[in-house]
Amino acid sequence: MATQRTLSIIKPDGIKKNVTGKIIAMFEEKGLRVVAAKRVQLTKAEAEGFYAVHRQRPFFGELVTFMVSGPVMLMVLEGEDAIAKNREIMGATDPAKAAAGTIRKLYASSIGENTVHGSDAPETAKFEIGWFFAENEIIS
Ligand code: ADP
Ligand code: MG
Repeated sequence: MATQRTLSIIKPDGIKKNVTGKIIAMFEEKGLRVVAAKRVQLTKAEAEGFYAVHRQRPFFGELVTFMVSGPVMLMVLEGEDAIAKNREIMGATDPAKAAAGTIRKLYASSIGENTVHGSDAPETAKFEIGWFFAENEIIS
C-alpha cells in the first residue's frame, strides 16, 4: 500500500468539546502524521464549495450552517493507506452506527454534527487538500 495524503477536518462540535488533542492522538497512534494544519473560521462560500458534491442533498443548507458555526481544524494527514485508515479511525457517518472506539462513536452527537471529516477517495483527497492548502504549506 502506498503513502497517501488525506484531508481531515475537526468540525465545530469537536472544537467546542475541546477534544482536538485527543483526536490527533488517535491519528498518530494509528501511524498517521499531521503534515499541515490550521485552525480557521470557514466562510459560507468556502464551506459551500468544499461540500459542492452534496449541493442537491436535503441536508446541504444545514451542513453549511453547521460548518460555519465555529472554528474548525483543517489538517492534512499522511501515511500508509491514509485515506481508508482515516475513515476507519473516524467511524461511520451516523455515530449510532459507528464502531466502538472510533472518533464518531466517542464524540459525535448526531449524523450532522459528527465531529470529523475525512476524504473518501484519492481524487476527492486531492481536491479537498487543494481547496484549503497551498502545496508549500504541506511539509512531509
Ligand atoms: P462522511 O462525512 O462520512 O463522508 P457524507 O459524505 O455522506 O458523510 O456526508 C457529508 C456530511 O454531511 C456528513 O459528515 C454529515 O455532517 C452531513 N450529513 C450526512 N448525512 C446527513 C443527514 N442524513 N442529515 C444531516 N446531515 C448529514
Ligand atoms: Mg463524505
